[in-house]
Amino acid sequence: MTMRLGFFLFVAFVFMCCGVPVGAQELGPGFTKIKDGIYVFAPDATTTTCSFVVTQEGVVMIDSCNSPLDSRKMAAAIKKVTDKPVVFLIDTETHNDHTANHFIFSPPAKIINHTGAGEGMKKEYSPKRAETLAAKSPELRAALEGFKMITPHIEYKDRMTIHLGERTFELIFLKNVHSEADTAVWLPKERVLFAASAANVRRFLNLRPTVVIPDVLASYKLMKSLNPEIVVTGHGPPTTTKVFDEYEGFYTLLLKRVGDMAAQGKTLAEIKKELKMPEYADWHDQNRLGVNIEAAYRIVKK
Ligand SMILES: [Zn+2]
Repeated sequence: MTMRLGFFLFVAFVFMCCGVPVGAQELGPGFTKIKDGIYVFAPDATTTTCSFVVTQEGVVMIDSCNSPLDSRKMAAAIKKVTDKPVVFLIDTETHNDHTANHFIFSPPAKIINHTGAGEGMKKEYSPKRAETLAAKSPELRAALEGFKMITPHIEYKDRMTIHLGERTFELIFLKNVHSEADTAVWLPKERVLFAASAANVRRFLNLRPTVVIPDVLASYKLMKSLNPEIVVTGHGPPTTTKVFDEYEGFYTLLLKRVGDMAAQGKTLAEIKKELKMPEYADWHDQNRLGVNIEAAYRIVKK
C-alpha cells in the first residue's frame, strides 16, 4: 500500500467512524463557532444576533433572531449540528426583534426571561407586524407560517442558574439598561458572556426613557468582573470586554459634555442642536445621538 493510499484510507476511516464535525462556515454566512458547541449568528453589523449552545441534554438558544427568515436559518443550522431538541430559549430583552419568532422554536423550547418580560412583550405587541412582514415576500409569508406571540413560560427574579447536560448557564438581570427585562447569560466554564443590549458593537443605542445611564455603566462593571473571554452583544458580531470599555468611554464623555452645557444654562433643545460626538463618527445609527443626549440630560439635571 502506498503512503498516499494509506493516508486516504485513514481519513476515510476517521470520517466514517467519527462523523464530521460541523464548522460554522457550513452553516452559512453570519454564523461563527465561538467555542465547541457554541454558535453565534450575527447576520451583519447591526441586525439582531441570536445564538445556540449544544449540551448533552439538548440545545439552549439565546434570542430568536429578528427576521423569521433568519430564525428559519437558525433552526436549519441547529439541525445540521445536532439532532437534540431546543430545550430552553433565553431572551436577553423584550423587544420583538429578539422575541417575535419564538413560535419557530417553541414547542418544544421553553422561553425564559426576567420578571416583567411577558408584560413588556404584550405592551409592545402589534398584531399587524406579522401581517405587514408577510406581505413583503412569499418567502417571508412562508417563514411566518404558524406565527403567534409566545411570552416567557418562566420568569425568574434577579438571578437564575440552569444546569443542562454538562453546561451551566447563569442568568443575570440587568436593571434599566435597555428594555423592560434584560438578561445577561454567563457560561462560567466556557467564559462566554451574552451581554444583552446593554452594549452593541460600535453603535448608538436607542436609549428609551426608562434607561438609566449609571445603571448601564454599573452593568458593564458587573459583566467585566466576570472576566469573560468572549462577549456576544444583542447586535453585531462576537467581541470581547473591549466593547464595554468603548461604551464606558462614550457615556462618560457624553455625560461630561451634556453636564458642562447644562451648567452653562443651555436647554435640552439647545444641547441636542449643538452637541457633537465626533470621536464616534464611525458608529452605526448616528440618528440616535438625540435620545442618548436626552438620557444623559435626565442624569445631569437630577
Ligand atoms: Zn431592543
